[in-house]
Amino acid sequence: MIRTRGLTKRFGQIVAVDDLDLDVREGDIYGFLGANGSGKTTTVRMLLGLVLATSGEVKLLDHPMPGSARMVLPQVGALVEGPAAYRNLSGRVNLALFDAMGRDGDASSRDQRIEEALEQVGLAAVDKRPVRAYSLGMRQRLGLAGALLRRPRLLILDEPTNGLDPQGIKEIRALLLKLHASGTTIFLSSHLLAEVEQLCTRVGVLDQGTLVIQEDLATLQQPTGRTLVRTPDVKLARGLLDGQVEEHDAASLLVRVADPAELNSLLVGKGVRVEELSPERRSLEDIVLAATHPASDQVAL
Ligand code: ATP
Repeated sequence: MIRTRGLTKRFGQIVAVDDLDLDVREGDIYGFLGANGSGKTTTVRMLLGLVLATSGEVKLLDHPMPGSARMVLPQVGALVEGPAAYRNLSGRVNLALFDAMGRDGDASSRDQRIEEALEQVGLAAVDKRPVRAYSLGMRQRLGLAGALLRRPRLLILDEPTNGLDPQGIKEIRALLLKLHASGTTIFLSSHLLAEVEQLCTRVGVLDQGTLVIQEDLATLQQPTGRTLVRTPDVKLARGLLDGQVEEHDAASLLVRVADPAELNSLLVGKGVRVEELSPERRSLEDIVLAATHPASDQVAL
């Protein structure tokens, strides 16, 4: 759905995006992570043909961008750097204008699609008040409604939960999952690790313009081969697992055994009360920090 090869953008001396090979497949919810200034927005803008690349290629839905923009963009919903809207007009009128400005906005179904998009983002009850009276969260939702108007196959969203409160973030997450379940491929940029961890199936991590990780989340977070055991009988368990306990505290142990079932039956068989037992997985935070600050932790040791 999105493929870039050697995509590079320079602003004078600054290399904002450096030799980027992105692969977003149909059915992905792709989380594009990176610190402030790492090049996410510049990348998103190049994907959509809003900024010209210094070098490299972009394909959206298998067609080269920006050359095929007129054909491709009607199938792509986008929200980049906060929604643009006429502040003195209502949300509905803004959406109608936005739809009419696109070449393929089918006028006969416009009102229905607008109501549907407003409903999807939780703005169905919005009245005629102008956008200038909207909260930041409402404007963000309106921008998302604009992205959904054409019932796109691919959604490209730059920081879609910016400015939303926790309830709003939860609602947008539920909406994106629903759209994904109905067949929409989603690419979203974010600097929020927790958001990406909860929502995405695939992750790309940008560090100072360079893609340092691109992988399925399930692969990144596969079990490490160690098992975490919670038990009130730490001392007894340590005696039984001599040599395999890598860390422990007063209530838990981290054991170098990959199979929790095997470990459970061994411990319970010897009278250890097991309260909880789970395979250890790395958090996305640990994975991203290791990839973006590879030397610093180790140098300190
Ligand atoms: P944020 O999360 O803060 O939005 P980002 O990851 O989206 O950051 P970009 O906005 O793409 O990062 O910026 C990447 C780099 O390119 C930064 O160093 C930024 O200062 C620089 N940059 C972006 N746009 C321009 C521009 N028009 N002119 C000069 N430098 C730019």
